[in-house]
Amino acid sequence: MFCASRVGFSGLLFFSLSLAALGQTSARLKTSDTELSLEAGPSAPRLTSLVVPGQPKWENRASETLIPFAEVSDKQVPLSWRFNGAASQTGDGRVAFVYDSDSPHLRLTWEWRVRQAYGPVEHQTRIENLEAQRIWIPLQDSLAFNWQIDPQFPLEHLFVEKGANTPSPVGTHQVPLTEGYRWTGTSSTYGDKRDEEPREIIPWSLVQRKDAALTGWYVGIEFSGRTRISLTRGKDSLKGAVGLDPDPGPFRTRLLPGEVFESPLVFLGGFSHGADAAGNILRRWVRAVLGNPQTWKDPNYPLVVNNSWGGGMDVNEEIALRMIRDSAELGVDMFHVDAGWFRSVGDWYPHPQKFPHGLAVIADDAHKHGLKFGLWVDWTQAGLSTEPGALNARDPKVRDWMVTDLPADWKPEPFKGQTIDLGLPEAKQWAQQEVERIVTDYHLDMLEHDGYLVAHGCDRTDHPHAAPDPLNKCIYKSWGAYWVDSSNSTDVSYHAVRAYYDIYSKMRQDHPGLLFEVCNDGGRMVDFGSASHGDYFSITDTYDPLSNRRAFYDTSHVLPAAMLESYVEKWPTPHIENFRYMLRSGMMGWLTIMTDTNAWSPEQHAETKKEIDLYKKELRSFIRGANLYHVSPRPDGVHWDGIEYWDLDRQRGVVYAFRGTTEAEKTHSYALEGLQPSVRYLLKFYDHSAPDRTVTGRELMTRGLKVALPLANSSELIFIEAVAH
Ligand SMILES: [Zn+2]
Repeated sequence: MFCASRVGFSGLLFFSLSLAALGQTSARLKTSDTELSLEAGPSAPRLTSLVVPGQPKWENRASETLIPFAEVSDKQVPLSWRFNGAASQTGDGRVAFVYDSDSPHLRLTWEWRVRQAYGPVEHQTRIENLEAQRIWIPLQDSLAFNWQIDPQFPLEHLFVEKGANTPSPVGTHQVPLTEGYRWTGTSSTYGDKRDEEPREIIPWSLVQRKDAALTGWYVGIEFSGRTRISLTRGKDSLKGAVGLDPDPGPFRTRLLPGEVFESPLVFLGGFSHGADAAGNILRRWVRAVLGNPQTWKDPNYPLVVNNSWGGGMDVNEEIALRMIRDSAELGVDMFHVDAGWFRSVGDWYPHPQKFPHGLAVIADDAHKHGLKFGLWVDWTQAGLSTEPGALNARDPKVRDWMVTDLPADWKPEPFKGQTIDLGLPEAKQWAQQEVERIVTDYHLDMLEHDGYLVAHGCDRTDHPHAAPDPLNKCIYKSWGAYWVDSSNSTDVSYHAVRAYYDIYSKMRQDHPGLLFEVCNDGGRMVDFGSASHGDYFSITDTYDPLSNRRAFYDTSHVLPAAMLESYVEKWPTPHIENFRYMLRSGMMGWLTIMTDTNAWSPEQHAETKKEIDLYKKELRSFIRGANLYHVSPRPDGVHWDGIEYWDLDRQRGVVYAFRGTTEAEKTHSYALEGLQPSVRYLLKFYDHSAPDRTVTGRELMTRGLKVALPLANSSELIFIEAVAH
């Protein structure tokens, strides 16, 4: 018998509503990890406290700042918000406090929702225009707080970067949060930053008390537009704001009569026992709340994929059919045609010379071989093709969908064009139909979107978003396309992202089982909004073993491992041990092979087949649902690194051990987590780098799991199972 209690599954779910003194209304929401007290003041609501059960309270001194004015007929009108108890609702794990403004007539709903018995609580603010005319409003944050802090108490801040183009040398930041700390982390679908600027983050942050309980809270944003999280520590206060990025400003957004502004959904949760414990709750919550049930129902998710990009743009019918045969032989689940199959950018029809019989026959051949069929499409990008059905940037009917007038000499790149503004209803409608056509006509099981999906600012004054500031805008060329930076950039992204979500929500409804790969020039769109509209992420655009492990190490702090795709590309492997190291560096989450498998030696071929079989029989179930522990520092390619999966229900796990180039350290000990000290565990070294042996949990968690590997750039998989008493 095992007595481990499963974190997060036993939580009670209830709320209470009471009319307190001074006419104030308060409510409480609770999951097994997070208790929130909420209060409706006469003119603003307040999150009064966050409690992690059994731990000191986080008390919030600030009421929510509600927008102080609106623009009506080009005039700024101050708003006076008044609590409307009759319209407010509580029940079923939901609290919605309503505030009204009489003139102009607006209704603001401040809502919190429990989505699972465990994990964080979701929050959103909505503002509805009840006037008969158009108004403009400034930025309403999703959440702002001012925690009261014990000046003596050390705090730590943890945040992770997106893998973007290439993971940086740091990636996972764990920094002391001392007096004077001022930090802002931003996220958009554009990872490109100048070297001196901080990298984009996955829009999430964790703050913990540095004591034995390692308790704290985390917050995340379920939106892919331009967002930010900021933290400022004073002597006895920790202020923060979470929501759309106000910079560059001033932000304003239009509301037509009856229209509703929705602040990006955010979630706020508490935890104890450090960042991995928080991650083990959050990953499970993301799967249950944001994940697609249809996708998770498939026991073969995450899939093993063979992708054509190993040969670049040269893919054709002959190559594709050969790859399908080899994929089936290797035991792969899906064949994925990457860029190169189409006539040209914006002209998403099979290239007549490369695919003379079209794409559906390729899909059908994959299906005949027992494989799913996936396709890369840059579906928001326009080019210059004049073929029927193509999105031609110079076509007078669509010219206004581009974010600015393109100069006469503009040309798309081979697989990159000009992003259209999806926030424009006509552009959205075209994209919806085009995605529908592609999925249906080409018999797709998976659609990968790439390129920049969300417009980077927009110069147009006749789109639903705010107009740019004519005195403060910058138009420039980057990655073969024209970009606009101005005060309206955040509003442009707000509209475009919502259109993207609508398109994919409808596709999911109409095509249950269809998978979406979220790729945006690599890992630039890794956030919780795309997690709720796509099925898995390309986590970085650099595919060597170290980059794959670094991106996985960072991203797996917050997202389910099954959603994290690593592309494994050709890499120098003089020894078969190096080859296995290369494969396994992409086998901790979703594995996509992206190299010409026909060029492999028979030994490498046989090795891959064996590893894929192991992935499907043993590793996949850990990747889908087991707890994950970062049992080493972040990979640096020199030292050892590793990841531990531990399945609490089955009392089984696996450690992925990687040795870097170090010659100084031929053995390494990983201090494991999640085990029980008194239980004995059987260790099986898959490559037989050591004989199987039985040890106590105490030894594995203190002295550690010792692994010896004679070669640099090699690996081992150590399977662990509890031995019954
Ligand atoms: Zn626009």
